[in-house]
Amino acid sequence: MEKKQFQAESKRLLEMMINSIYTQKEIFLRELISNASDAIDKIYYKALTDSTLVFDQDHYYIKVTADAENRTLTIRDTGIGMTEEELEANLGVIAKSGSLAFKREHESKDGHDLIGQFGVGFYSAFMVADEVIVRSRALGSERAYQWQSTGAEGYTIEPCDKQDVGTEILLKIKENTEDENYDEYLEPYRLKAIIKKYSDFIRYPIKMDIADQEDQTLNSMVPIWRKNKNELTPADYENFYTEKHYGFDKPIKHIHLNVEGSVTYQAILFIPETIPFDYYSKEFEKGLELYSNGVLIMDKCSDLLPDHFSFVKGMVDSDSLSLNISRELLQHDRQLKLIAKNIAGKIKSQLLSLLKDEREQYEKFYNSFGRQLKFGVYSDFGANKDALQDLLLFHSSKEQKLVTLDEYVSRMPEDQKYIYYATGDSIERIEKLPQTELVTDKGYELLYFTDDIDEFAIKMLMTYKDKEFKNVSSGDLGIEEAENQTQQEQQENQELFAYMTTQLSGKVTNVRASKRLKKHPVCLSTEGDVTIEMEKILNAMPN
Ligand code: ADP
Ligand code: MG
Repeated sequence: MEKKQFQAESKRLLEMMINSIYTQKEIFLRELISNASDAIDKIYYKALTDSTLVFDQDHYYIKVTADAENRTLTIRDTGIGMTEEELEANLGVIAKSGSLAFKREHESKDGHDLIGQFGVGFYSAFMVADEVIVRSRALGSERAYQWQSTGAEGYTIEPCDKQDVGTEILLKIKENTEDENYDEYLEPYRLKAIIKKYSDFIRYPIKMDIADQEDQTLNSMVPIWRKNKNELTPADYENFYTEKHYGFDKPIKHIHLNVEGSVTYQAILFIPETIPFDYYSKEFEKGLELYSNGVLIMDKCSDLLPDHFSFVKGMVDSDSLSLNISRELLQHDRQLKLIAKNIAGKIKSQLLSLLKDEREQYEKFYNSFGRQLKFGVYSDFGANKDALQDLLLFHSSKEQKLVTLDEYVSRMPEDQKYIYYATGDSIERIEKLPQTELVTDKGYELLYFTDDIDEFAIKMLMTYKDKEFKNVSSGDLGIEEAENQTQQEQQENQELFAYMTTQLSGKVTNVRASKRLKKHPVCLSTEGDVTIEMEKILNAMPN
């Protein structure tokens, strides 16, 4: 038997492949199962146009068999198989993708669901195997062939025995080394977990052969996001949320998207109810699961979510992404940016309608994640303020409720110029502030800022519907009357004020008469943009 050699370049490429393209060894199984699924798809597509072929669903499956004793792992499919020439062409030439060629041939028809495109995934088997043996019998062929290789050294092809059409890939799993555990790829529970993680939505059953056990189908097969919304119940979404380990809580809302047009994707997104324990810490990683054609590409694709919506959980599936060769990362992708933008818009409108139609639910949400929205207004120099300002809620002196800025502004009396707010640690403390008196006496509504970030966020907004925000402790509230009377009092008490200013030097810059006070004899106020509360926070910040 003649041993054929890889070309020098191919050898180098293969070594690179095996050692550096993939960050995780476990994905070899994803790649081999994806190939098996493609092989079955090809029969399916053929059957669409070839009336002599019957596609009997029951006959098509993928079977994974681990034999720990002999250290072999076999992935078998009942797909289209490969002829001798195809074995040579597809497995002997790195970066040659029979599946991509198939897709091109069938461009106008189906075939776009095929996963393969780069012609490298197969070789990932060598990350975990010393030797790979492929036995295959092509559809319509009487003969079967065996391709065998130990990696960079080359491969052999020879006839073999195989009764049915399809392909069987046998991996001789490597021995454990000091820093790598390969035994795990022979353990059924570990294999199951890998299959569940990456290949749960492969359209054909993936079965596992375990000694003394009946075959189990491991994957769910039908991605719920491809189902019609009308066929799904709230419980279906909740189960999906739990199964996918998005959280232990019951989500407040789900968003099921099926978008077609300049971007095409499906997504199921959730707005959780409770804050993940690490949410407001550096450890928290935002992101959505990203699938391409039903195969998991990324656990947490952070580019899909803006920071201010980092609480959203869920997944996106799109077949119009340009993946890089490892299919673990995306190329700098315009498509992804468009999807992200689209998603952000959908989340915003979903939150707005929650606010409008299910206020109680919205407030529940806001209690958990409102702070993040306020951070969103504050960060990026207010770039997101337009998107977020209508989602904000603040405590208010009116009815002691949370109110939106729109609610505040729409009931402002005509003579009221500003949106007034006061800051403090708690509502009770704010209510005791002497500075609030004048405003509330006037019958004006007052927003209570009890969160550090509130005032910073509002400074970014600057105005809402052309109304400026005004801290009640700032110098001029725009409602003080009798300016000249104040001036007169100022003159009469000049000596006293001067004395007080020197006594309090370093603590205050000036003592002045004010028309602001009603019941209280004295209050603190600031001049300029930085208010007392902001000063406190700024002083407490590490430099
Ligand atoms: P890709 O899947 O990106 O095309 P791979 O390296 O994973 O690249 O596979 C190379 C080619 O080998 C595939 O395109 C396909 O033509 C062929 N192939 C691989 N596995 C199988 C299989 N189980 N059955 C039939 N053909 C296969
Ligand atoms: Mg492949």
